[in-house]
Amino acid sequence: MQIYNSLSRKIEDFKTIEKNKVKMYVCGPTPYDHNHIGHARTYIFFDFLRRYLEFRGMKVDLIMNLTDVDDKIIEQSKKFKSWQMVSDIYSREFFGMLKDLRIKPPMSFPRVTNHIQEIIELVHLLMDKGFAYQTNDGIYFDISKFPDYGKLSGRDLKDPSISRIESSPDKKNPADFAIWKFKKPGEPSWQAKFGEGRPGWHIECSAMSSKYLGNQFDIHGGGEDLVFPHHENEIAQSEAAFGKSPWVRYWIHPAFLMIDKTKMSKSLGNIVSAAKVIEKYEPELIRYFMLRAHYKKQLDFTLDRLDSSKEQWRKLVRAWYEVIQSLENQEFGKKSAVDEMQDAEKKLISALDNDLHSPNAFVQIEFVASLVLGGGLDKKSLDKAKKFFDSIDSVFAILPKPWWSEKDKQMAGVAAELRESYRKQKLFDKSDEIRAKMMESGVILEDTSSGQRIRFI
Ligand code: AMP
Ligand code: ZN
Repeated sequence: MQIYNSLSRKIEDFKTIEKNKVKMYVCGPTPYDHNHIGHARTYIFFDFLRRYLEFRGMKVDLIMNLTDVDDKIIEQSKKFKSWQMVSDIYSREFFGMLKDLRIKPPMSFPRVTNHIQEIIELVHLLMDKGFAYQTNDGIYFDISKFPDYGKLSGRDLKDPSISRIESSPDKKNPADFAIWKFKKPGEPSWQAKFGEGRPGWHIECSAMSSKYLGNQFDIHGGGEDLVFPHHENEIAQSEAAFGKSPWVRYWIHPAFLMIDKTKMSKSLGNIVSAAKVIEKYEPELIRYFMLRAHYKKQLDFTLDRLDSSKEQWRKLVRAWYEVIQSLENQEFGKKSAVDEMQDAEKKLISALDNDLHSPNAFVQIEFVASLVLGGGLDKKSLDKAKKFFDSIDSVFAILPKPWWSEKDKQMAGVAAELRESYRKQKLFDKSDEIRAKMMESGVILEDTSSGQRIRFI
């Protein structure tokens, strides 16, 4: 398998440190406001990556943090009773979004406020090793002590935009960043030998990843806006403290979800709430929409575009339901398509092995769906199609479970009998009416040479 590594700016062979085990850390949200559908794209992508690695036989240890103390949370707490309440409310909403979108939970969701001790120890370590110094408002990382600074983002340290990131009058270099911020009135703070305060943003990910995944691991990810300064700073701290380089082997940054070619973001005021979209559209359709595009390409979002992808997606779902029902009802034809399906599966894996090329993978999925919808497949082919779709769903989670219950089946059976009896009495208006009504609720009553066939779609 090959994957694009932001660190080398190349597509590389994917080799894990431990055989068949992937240690993966994804920067979680700062839960200070509602989720937007841009967040959904990033977390759906990492879920897909995790699922694909599992499909390829690897065990994935995934950690996702929650930044539950931070400037934005403190700012937002003016509207709430306490700063803790802000992250409590919005992290619960975030978990809800993950569940709604069939995103598998990570091994753990460590929170900053539960790891202050680990963070303090890391700050001490960086000070002892001479990588950090104190000013009157905090402890800063000294980038001049870390010659590799800039290797992820390719930033020039003389770039004037760097100085604007965090300003403190007595910083040694413009790009030095706070790893500990001394207490300010009205802000949450914790005791530490070097002075009461709270962690800077970046230090948490170095401290928590090392606690759960060790001092060197395989994958680190987040949206593309995290490359600089967040991930650049994480690398500096971690390589300085742990003495291992590269600290992380593969840096993975999916592209943004856009609105009218601009990044969807709260500060630009162009967000579409994730909850609103989830309320109106099937989670599997949302995932299909997101995953049908290559993850390194920016994707423009509108509800119209989501709507117009529905038909293609429905076709896959219909094929999947067709397989389930044919096997359940033991309706087998004579056509064999096992070889074609095997070939499609091979092509699908090679597409995904090639930097997760999901658009090419979907060509194969659509091909198998059209084989199924062509009808007349024999039992072997249907078994094969079932396996194929099961694998697809384990990787993409784009196929909704059959919606019909035993009771629905019974009711459809009764309707079919009634329709048949009207037909025998030549009351065609009535029989057609039944058929139309059933159709509205997603049940097709089909006439075949061997009688009526009931199909749920
Ligand atoms: P935040 O809590 O806003 O910092 O974002 C959490 C994650 O969502 C980060 O990995 C961001 O890069 C990502 N993210 C934010 N906006 C977008 C967007 N428009 N498209 C894709 N990912 C985004
Ligand atoms: Zn992080």
